[in-house]
Amino acid sequence: MKPLDPRDPLVGMTITELERAMMSLGEKPFRGRQIADWIYAHGIASFGEMTNLPLPMRTHLEEHFRVGSLEERGRRETPDRRTRKVAYALDDGGLIESVYMSTTRRYTFCLSSQQGCGFACRFCATGRMGRGRNLTSGEIVEQALRLRRELPPGQKEFNVVFMGMGEPLENYDAVMRALDLITGPHGLHVPTKRITISTVGLVPQILRLASEGRRYRLAISLHAATDDLRSKLMPVNRTFPLEPLMRAVRTHIERVGERVTFEYILIEEINDTLADAAKLVRLVGQLPCRVNLIPYNPIGPGRFRRPSPERIQRFVDHLGPRVPAVTVRYSQGVEIGAACGQLAGEKEIALR
Ligand code: SF4
Repeated sequence: MKPLDPRDPLVGMTITELERAMMSLGEKPFRGRQIADWIYAHGIASFGEMTNLPLPMRTHLEEHFRVGSLEERGRRETPDRRTRKVAYALDDGGLIESVYMSTTRRYTFCLSSQQGCGFACRFCATGRMGRGRNLTSGEIVEQALRLRRELPPGQKEFNVVFMGMGEPLENYDAVMRALDLITGPHGLHVPTKRITISTVGLVPQILRLASEGRRYRLAISLHAATDDLRSKLMPVNRTFPLEPLMRAVRTHIERVGERVTFEYILIEEINDTLADAAKLVRLVGQLPCRVNLIPYNPIGPGRFRRPSPERIQRFVDHLGPRVPAVTVRYSQGVEIGAACGQLAGEKEIALR
């Protein structure tokens, strides 16, 4: 358990809040803007490095505030270091994980929005942990700041996906506040088109996103094309079945003007037959969308298996000419438990 630090973290504060925080210490408001610059633009993690602040002020700051609140507890990396799963301890001792993924062309940070998850999707390790708590916007932004430090020198661009632990739209306010900072000109300045929010399909929140006109990319974890099967794989489907979900998705597409991604984990003999492919086409084939097929990643003993390459190809071949776009994502980092559905706040990496 982390000892409780009474000092408020500054990561997660907007410019206005940082200005106020500085005024509470008797400093001029412009110091808040300088600190925002150090934290968000330069990624500085300690007051000692904020060299345009007078030394006594840095000491004063240290007494009353801390820069962030996460503490790295361990990491696993693939041998080529392209995928890195990092565990962080929260103030209350809970563990979360974030994943840094790189290819020759792109860098992607997979962030967590909750510690644990209460949605209990059957194929997901996080879902087995049960409900934890919502992360604060500061805890979300800090994951991005920390992963940004891992980029190679000179690399500035990266994507952010909310596909780590938790359901981002269940923690709507904190996630949107974090995204305001991640995309904002005084924050990390990431273009909105580089942000993807992945959801199990919380209909009211999808409609709220649409009505607020937030132009983040939306990914729907679909995984089945009938209510019967989807309810078995994802209990949330009993609350938000396919019909209202697809209506909300259509509204989102109309209002935001962006195509949507449907995530579909392929599980042998469960949802990977040609009949399943045909049902999927009927459900999404007419929408401006991309279907992203993810061959199942093992999360321990259980009856789910990854389909053979032939079965996967047969599914792709059926979808190919019938939906606007189809991709197969062989998740990075399966061997270190960093792939889709595998994040579970593992104690052994956290304690190493
Ligand atoms: S897939 Fe997402 S929503 Fe479902 S249990 Fe896992 S973390 Fe929760």
